[in-house]
Amino acid sequence: MGRTDADRMRSRATLRMFSLARGKDDLRTVAGVEQRTDMDDARIALCVARGVDLDDINPSSGHDMSRRAYESSRTSWVDHIAMFGYSEFYDGPHLAKALDSWTAWNPEYTDGDDWLKAGREAHYARQADLGRPCDRFSCDLHSDTDVPMGQAVRAREIVPEAVPEAAL
Ligand SMILES: [Zn+2]
Repeated sequence: MGRTDADRMRSRATLRMFSLARGKDDLRTVAGVEQRTDMDDARIALCVARGVDLDDINPSSGHDMSRRAYESSRTSWVDHIAMFGYSEFYDGPHLAKALDSWTAWNPEYTDGDDWLKAGREAHYARQADLGRPCDRFSCDLHSDTDVPMGQAVRAREIVPEAVPEAAL
């Protein structure tokens, strides 16, 4: 049985739903640009409703660029690095993008403020609290110490069997 118009319509509708669900950002179409503009406007409205100073709202994106938002973004990154460590390859580009956007908005925010250093210290403090080394394969902060690259998961898997019953 060949494809009918109804099949094609269902298929197109399904693809459209997938596209919307993915939040596909297509600025090559009028609809895509309108969707982006709608989102930016909604973001500005949200900022205003939350009492963000108009001078702190990025007029093109609608993002809250206040000092408070900066601190919140910084805290998220430091917490993330504390919890999961840091990889120049995986995390580096995202951290750089965040810092670049804050620096472009207000260089005074980022001047002398080293997020990675703060995150590294928080990461070490967390590992000390937990009393065990970091076990993320790709964590650059521990590549020379603690668990050697590639052995973290194996070490965790081996430990239960390695402990003699008498010692438990
Ligand atoms: Zn680590």
